[in-house]
Amino acid sequence: MVYLYFGALIFFVFGAKIRAFVTGENPSQTAYSLSMSICDGFSPLPKSSNFGQKTKKISAPKYIRMKYLLGVTLDTLNTWFQERGQPRFRAGQIFDWLYKKEISDIMQMSNLSIDLRYALDKEWKAHGIELVKIQTSDDQQTYKFLWQLHDGKRVESVLIIGENRDTQEAQRRTVCVSSQVGCPARCAFCASGREGLLRNLEPDEIIAQVYEINRWLQKERGERVSHIVYMGMGEPFRNYEAVLQSIRTMIAPDMMGISQRRITVSTVGVVEGIQRLASEDLKVNLVLSLHAPNQKLRQKIIPYAREYELQSILEAMYDYAAKTKRDITFEYTLLAGINDAPEHAHELVELLKNKQCSVNLIPYNPVAGLKLEKPSHEAIRGFRKILDAGNIISTCRYTKGDDIAAACGQLALQKS
Ligand code: SF4
Repeated sequence: MVYLYFGALIFFVFGAKIRAFVTGENPSQTAYSLSMSICDGFSPLPKSSNFGQKTKKISAPKYIRMKYLLGVTLDTLNTWFQERGQPRFRAGQIFDWLYKKEISDIMQMSNLSIDLRYALDKEWKAHGIELVKIQTSDDQQTYKFLWQLHDGKRVESVLIIGENRDTQEAQRRTVCVSSQVGCPARCAFCASGREGLLRNLEPDEIIAQVYEINRWLQKERGERVSHIVYMGMGEPFRNYEAVLQSIRTMIAPDMMGISQRRITVSTVGVVEGIQRLASEDLKVNLVLSLHAPNQKLRQKIIPYAREYELQSILEAMYDYAAKTKRDITFEYTLLAGINDAPEHAHELVELLKNKQCSVNLIPYNPVAGLKLEKPSHEAIRGFRKILDAGNIISTCRYTKGDDIAAACGQLALQKS
């Protein structure tokens, strides 16, 4: 009996460690995820008051990485060249190749001597992600990119081509980027959240998603990426430093030069992340994944929501709007029989009344293996009517790319 007991104990502890070794996860998280059944839509997370620390423990990849050029500052590159007796303008030359000419292969940077190119190439690469495959929707309006990371993990990005509704919209080329592998939020309706958080992405791994899609878009359609949304896998504020570095790279005029007004960060409501972003010298757009008009229902839909009271999240959002003069948006995924009833709409009106904001309604797009359903057209219409009557500005966005499973996290979790 005693042997049996110790046998079971050893199996539990080392089973988790073996899987952690293979997947790169934190063993304690692995043990935890082993104990979770496949998301039934409403499995609550155990209360954790120290979620940030968990993320920190697993954030550093265990693999030896090269140095990556995307996201590195001019000062850092200058130092590297100066240490090798090279003039300061070399760093500017690299920036020119990388961001203006969009050449990422060091050996093609022809105004550097061959010896210098070899020396650079030995230590640096442009970035550490590789394209695995691209899936295209039937209407050719949505493209999903699956990337492999240096440690074998996978993430995805989605490119959305603007519709021809009006000129401005038609010109949009929006890339939805991932900021983590997996996601700690575990939203009931999301494929990415099912496995929990595996690790944070490094800055180059975030930036490269946009960089490479931009190059692909130019080659295939003669177009450029115009908008970035941090709405792929992951909670951006749980990988704050890397996300911030990626935003700074995307907006810097001598780097990617994208207007920060065209960049949107989406959060499930990490209060200190919202507050920190408000204190930066930035004016990017901010979206809160709200999904419910009250704390109780919200916690059922987003287990991570129990970390912060809804009122404190809303206060941080309004404060962000006041400081940055940017409008804020609330995303509300309509789930049949869960949050799409008229009483939910009335409660939402009460929650947001007299605030400068808009609500983006997203009818749920079914994900294989989750027991959730699409709302009916009547329910969507009725919900919107109540918001209209309550003077809440709303839009209704139908998920694009259903045929290629473009809802977040669906591709990266497929094994093929
Ligand atoms: S919907 Fe977004 S925040 Fe929620 S689990 Fe998925 S990736 Fe994370």
